[in-house]
Amino acid sequence: SLTIGIVGLPNVGKSTLFNALTKNDVLAANYPFATIEPNVGVVGVPDPRLAVLAKIFDSQKILPATVDFVDIAGIVRGASEGEGLGNKFLANIRESDAICQVIRAFKDENVVHVDGKVSPKDDIETINTELILADLQSVEKAVPRLTKESRLQKEKVAVLAAVEEAQKILEAGTTLFAAGISAGTEKGRLLHELHLLTTKPFLYVFNVDEDELVDEDFKNEQRALVAPAEAIFLNAKIESELIELDDDEALELLQSMGQDEPGLATLGRVGFATLGLQTYLTAGPKETRAWTIKKGATAPEAAGVIHTDFQKGFIKAEVISFADLVEAGSVTESRAKGKARMEGKDYVMQDGDVVEFRFNV
Ligand code: GDP
Repeated sequence: SLTIGIVGLPNVGKSTLFNALTKNDVLAANYPFATIEPNVGVVGVPDPRLAVLAKIFDSQKILPATVDFVDIAGIVRGASEGEGLGNKFLANIRESDAICQVIRAFKDENVVHVDGKVSPKDDIETINTELILADLQSVEKAVPRLTKESRLQKEKVAVLAAVEEAQKILEAGTTLFAAGISAGTEKGRLLHELHLLTTKPFLYVFNVDEDELVDEDFKNEQRALVAPAEAIFLNAKIESELIELDDDEALELLQSMGQDEPGLATLGRVGFATLGLQTYLTAGPKETRAWTIKKGATAPEAAGVIHTDFQKGFIKAEVISFADLVEAGSVTESRAKGKARMEGKDYVMQDGDVVEFRFNV
């Protein structure tokens, strides 16, 4: 499955946040037989539709979609110079599908900042610089090779052009993602063979003081720093307290801080979207469940997420949109109203599809 790597300068609250991620019990509660690596934190993707479906189908269980976060420990500054830990740090980022930078905004005099002052802008630049320098090395190595190859292989001409454009962007100190070149774009695909770091989607978590959680001016300033990437605001210490509380107590604490969901839930939702993922829903008396697919997945591909046999033996999918199903009140009533569609193998799954697959075994 796809993963998001968590990076950041020392002392910004990464471990505090990561501990909260590993202790939140979405996996233990819902997937008791799942095995997880110690450096992976799993968080549920909040989806209010699940509870609605579970009620209609009288489901015993609700299984939300999940996102995996990987703790990428290691030094940051000088990483691109490629010594020991630095290499490992960059290799770990290379394996992630998106990059989540934790940034310190909280002002606690008892917690030392490595650079002596709290400055989100500088911290973002420090991390970006290492990633940009690492990409520049990859690009500079590739240009002479591609120049040669493009003389004989026509398809390499476009790759060389994309690499040269990437080099200019990186030399100007911009990440490729910020310049609009990400894994999902045409240019991103041309650059794929270089396994660059800054084409990965970025996501920023600002670890803020409680008063900043509701300070819209402050938050807009930070959003402007990281756009087009998403910014999430949370207090890592409070998150680690929230997971110890039961639902009612947690809600009360959140509301007292002007929040309507825990920061971890926001992180799950935004992280999921950042990875370019989407869900479809299944429901029955046993469970209501959100299944993870890539945007644009077809019905057989979606079936394959449940079981490879479902994909191999795919016949058709009975699809009802969530809104139609809720309005009709049941599958039988949806069918009677003509709201249940039979879709074939070319159908592209839509957000909110409630599905039952028909397949040969
Ligand atoms: P890491 O080096 O990035 O993993 O940072 P840690 O999670 O170890 O946090 C460094 C220090 O900052 C610890 O003493 C934490 O208790 C403290 N800390 C983490 N998050 C917050 C926060 O939101 N507010 C305050 N005041 N302190 C925090």
